[in-house]
Amino acid sequence: MSDQRHLDWPFFDERHRALARELDAWAAVNVPHAHGGDVDAACRELVRRLGAAGWLRHAVAGTEHGGSAEVIDTRSICLIRETLARHSGLADFAFAMQGLGSGAISLAGTPAQKAGYLPRVARGEAIAAFALSEPDAGSDVAALSCAARADGGDYVLDGEKTWISNGGIADFYVVFARTGEAAGSRGISAFIVDAGTPGLEIGARIDVIAPHPLARLRFSNCRVPASQRVGAPAEGFRIAMRTLDVFRTSVAAAALGLARRALDEALARASSRRMFGQRLADFQITQAKLASMATTIDSAALLTYRAAWQRDQGQPVTGEAAMAKMAATEGAQQVIDAAVQLFGGLGVTSEVPVERLYREIRALRIYEGATEVQQLIIARELLRQFEAQAAR
Ligand SMILES: Cc1cc2nc3c(=O)[nH]c(=O)nc-3n(C[C@H](O)[C@H](O)[C@H](O)COP(=O)(O)OP(=O)(O)OC[C@H]3O[C@@H](n4cnc5c(N)ncnc54)[C@H](O)[C@@H]3O)c2cc1C
Repeated sequence: MSDQRHLDWPFFDERHRALARELDAWAAVNVPHAHGGDVDAACRELVRRLGAAGWLRHAVAGTEHGGSAEVIDTRSICLIRETLARHSGLADFAFAMQGLGSGAISLAGTPAQKAGYLPRVARGEAIAAFALSEPDAGSDVAALSCAARADGGDYVLDGEKTWISNGGIADFYVVFARTGEAAGSRGISAFIVDAGTPGLEIGARIDVIAPHPLARLRFSNCRVPASQRVGAPAEGFRIAMRTLDVFRTSVAAAALGLARRALDEALARASSRRMFGQRLADFQITQAKLASMATTIDSAALLTYRAAWQRDQGQPVTGEAAMAKMAATEGAQQVIDAAVQLFGGLGVTSEVPVERLYREIRALRIYEGATEVQQLIIARELLRQFEAQAAR
């Protein structure tokens, strides 16, 4: 059982504490620390296990459609991601993508779309993907150019997406495409495109430092019925931002899980490794490192669960979620780097979890809004509040 003293914090209800403890015990048995070379098969299996055990119910909204509650509870998804990431980055990825990939349907789907997709996502029987980014539209995503042209009762999609997690293994993709009602963010709509739809081609696989299913998608004359549009025409950008808003704080929680695992590993190593006649942990320099690691983790955790709690109270969290994401991902990178250093040469070998953590943390500082984007969001909120006060 992992150290979970933070569960006593006042941000949580008893149900959250029970959820985290049960998941930790379940993951210790059901989630392998390492996976073989076939990352697609490992991911499919993790989705199946997470679904069969009921954990994916927290990733979708609506009890009628297999969700655990009517709205996604931010503290629950944060605790789940933190706990899974502490055991396995890939298990956290499998959970997160089910939520992110189906988030648009949870938030804005028609009753038929919800009934058709969400129960299968919650049971781990359908794998979801979120297709927003393009080669020329990443941070500046309102510049996307993949087009959806209305044609009779259908839409016809043409264009390219990249960096699509679960690309190649997903059963459906929520795709954001330009329908042209207005320029920029006001001319984008969202569509559900089932895998196997003619005109949807899975392009090149993308190899990254911490492998997970990731690919480019190409749409060529890809026809989907208008009933597959999620939300109203031109509402797609708002839906994408609302989806990311639900999940942004949970990226911070995932980073926390990776950092906590690094500290667990560092404590164990420093307490057992002997040198110069004593344990590595007996040196004050080591103790200073451990103290910094623990303080970085707790400060990031306080920011993360403040944002999650605040969101669950129905309050706006734009600045708070951005602070949590920046502090937790940047802090986790430092904590994990310190853990690798404590391990010495062993720390850069594939024999130890800290090497895997070192690779796994890196992308979290980039996706769902790079750190620089979070800085701009935080500053914008600060200035907005300052100006509103000054005008009073
Ligand atoms: C492992 C992984 C998984 C992903 N999964 C998905 C997915 O499932 N679906 C999906 O749609 N996308 C996904 N993405 C894409 C991800 O959201 C983008 O990589 C991200 O938005 C950054 O876009 P970009 O890579 O084009 O970088 P760019 O937009 O080119 O940005 C490059 C860098 O510029 C800096 N920068 C950005 N904005 C500013 C600014 N305003 N001022 C100063 N500096 C700035 C940042 O350091 C940033 O990292 C994934 C990416 C990765 C790496």
